[in-house]
Amino acid sequence: MSTAAESNAEEVAELYDDFSEFHARINDNNLHVGYWEDEHDGASFQEAAETMTQQLIRRLEPQAGQRILDVGCGIGQPAFSLARSQQVDITGITVSRRQIERAGTTAAELGLQDRVRFEYADATKLPYADGAFDAAWFFESMIHMPDKALALREVARVLRPGARLAIADMFHEPGKDWSAAHPIVTAITIDAYADLLEQAGFSLLEVDDVTPHMLVPKPVRVALRAQMLEHRDEWVRIAGEAVVAQFLDPEENTFYTPGLGYVLIAARRN
Ligand code: SAH
Repeated sequence: MSTAAESNAEEVAELYDDFSEFHARINDNNLHVGYWEDEHDGASFQEAAETMTQQLIRRLEPQAGQRILDVGCGIGQPAFSLARSQQVDITGITVSRRQIERAGTTAAELGLQDRVRFEYADATKLPYADGAFDAAWFFESMIHMPDKALALREVARVLRPGARLAIADMFHEPGKDWSAAHPIVTAITIDAYADLLEQAGFSLLEVDDVTPHMLVPKPVRVALRAQMLEHRDEWVRIAGEAVVAQFLDPEENTFYTPGLGYVLIAARRN
């Protein structure tokens, strides 16, 4: 682990260089959790992951012709859904070179390469001019950024005044301990998010705690476990036996780490 609070990009890149292929197979190129209406919602994990993307698109309110920055783009599926929702131009950034390669290949396969491109950039040091974008989102990426204030200030800088920002991520539920989570995860409370956004020059528009919606309904969990078991060896190699065993424990609520809720935020740059 790096000790410098602001620089964990190498550790993040290492993890995602390894993990992305696996996720591509398991979850249709999405690297985020799902959104279910309630425990009776039978949507598959893959369908629910797309529903979560639609939840974030709704909060971003993309308009035709806009230039949008996807901060922490993974292997591109959210950007592709966003590109299909409106005639927008998207730049996705990540610190994993393997993700850039893979996302770029998929963009070409989908015929979206003219409107969606993927580049190497660290959210805390963006290689873009002031006001270069009309909107931006952090989709389950801020959780990996130890210096969230710096990342928000950088994104505020490259957004024009009035631009919309959307965030989907885990947050620290006050009073609960989440110390068992992965070392490259740093979670903050919803109140801390609100403060950081305001300090970075954003006005809050919507803040929704959607934790109940990311809990995987029981039948969906059973199906997902069966699917993941088919890739058990690869999974153990990447994540380790302990993580895999925990994930496959039927008593555990897949993807919910106690103490880590899920929040959707919409804000506007002042
Ligand atoms: N938004 C995508 C991927 C989420 S995974 C999806 O929902 O499918 C987290 C992503 O954040 C990875 O692509 C990781 O490389 C990226 N990330 C983490 N820290 C980053 C940083 N400092 N700068 C840019 N990207 C970062």
